[in-house]
Amino acid sequence: MTQHSIPYGKQYISEEDLAAVAAVLTGDFLTQGPTIARFEADFALYVGSTYAVAVSNGTAALHLSCMALEVSENSRVITTPITFAASANCVRYCDGTVLFADIDPMTYLINLASVKRILENEPTGTVQGIIVVDFAGKAVNLEAFRALADQYNCWIIEDACHAPGGFFTDSTNKQQRCGNGKFADVSIFSFHPVKHIACGEGGMITTDNKAIYDRLLQLRTHGITRNTEQFSNSPALATGIPESMDYPLWYMEMQELGFNYRLTDFQAALGLSQLKRADAGLEKRRQIAQRYANAFAGKSYISGQSGYDPAHAYHLYVIEVTDRLGLYNYLRTKGIFAQIHYFPAHLMPYYQQFGWKEGDFPHAETYYNRCLSLPMFPTLTADEQTYVIAEIDRYYQL
Ligand SMILES: *Cc1c(COP(=O)(O)O)cnc(C)c1O
Repeated sequence: MTQHSIPYGKQYISEEDLAAVAAVLTGDFLTQGPTIARFEADFALYVGSTYAVAVSNGTAALHLSCMALEVSENSRVITTPITFAASANCVRYCDGTVLFADIDPMTYLINLASVKRILENEPTGTVQGIIVVDFAGKAVNLEAFRALADQYNCWIIEDACHAPGGFFTDSTNKQQRCGNGKFADVSIFSFHPVKHIACGEGGMITTDNKAIYDRLLQLRTHGITRNTEQFSNSPALATGIPESMDYPLWYMEMQELGFNYRLTDFQAALGLSQLKRADAGLEKRRQIAQRYANAFAGKSYISGQSGYDPAHAYHLYVIEVTDRLGLYNYLRTKGIFAQIHYFPAHLMPYYQQFGWKEGDFPHAETYYNRCLSLPMFPTLTADEQTYVIAEIDRYYQL
């Protein structure tokens, strides 16, 4: 038998990708060149937003979003514990307080009712925002969250790292793509190699809000602007000539404390090239999901699974099983490297210091005890998937 080594996720770099990167590397701009703007424009078109801002990674995207939305030491922000730590950490970068809410045990997404309960119980006006996560690739119903957020004067950040191409259907039966800027104030994406679109490192922020967009552009590059319309100093001060009416061409202003969170042009070239295959990759992910869903239907060892949903973007395919540790270890001996997404954020030592403890979020904790993410990536072959399914079956028949 052939020796397998099947990870839960994997990037795919094509000949076209290589050529696209090489073309930029041998050109004039390695960073802040024209490829960034093209990647931003095409990505905005793909998700349906008005604006897109490319940044160095998804975590930087979250950090800048929190800054643009004025998160400070006085801010309290609600998010889910079943996510990558960065979804919560961004609030802490700005010295805000993280409030966790439990998940829905069926969808694994942050539970609207739990969020509502927090908003009802906290003193009026003390919660500033909600960070929702399209976990595993399943879109949060942002229409419902927007209505709740508006009622409590909160903003929404959509962490859509798992979900480019995913959508939910709104109350008028319209499909609303993740990151389309129609409900969330900002949405963020990651281009880490396990995600749908790989740049090595990379991220994107999408929004329909012009003021937030302008702020993000400035924060991405040290808080510096070259736009004369935004300058606050007078031309006279900028030139040192008392009666001067014009700004010298070299002049720029640093107006607030920003960062260097830029993406390079050759990473943008890779992202742009990968984006062309995004729909094909998504189609493959959905086919794989359909096969898993069919294979596990009615299996007694399955207590929950991602299932098949044509709106899902399937960054992950999750199953919930008994004896998860046993299955995880068994699969590793067979070269199948399933993963756990995620250890609940509120039980990380860093967040426990703020008083969060076991038992706070029963649905999230039960989910964590059973969950396993199976191999899910566009180049997973039918033979490999058959092998994965057969080995899981074999484990429970042992
Ligand atoms: C990957 C990921 C991030 C962080 O993205 P990076 O590009 O690795 O910084 C944030 N949130 C979620 C849900 C993610 O999966």
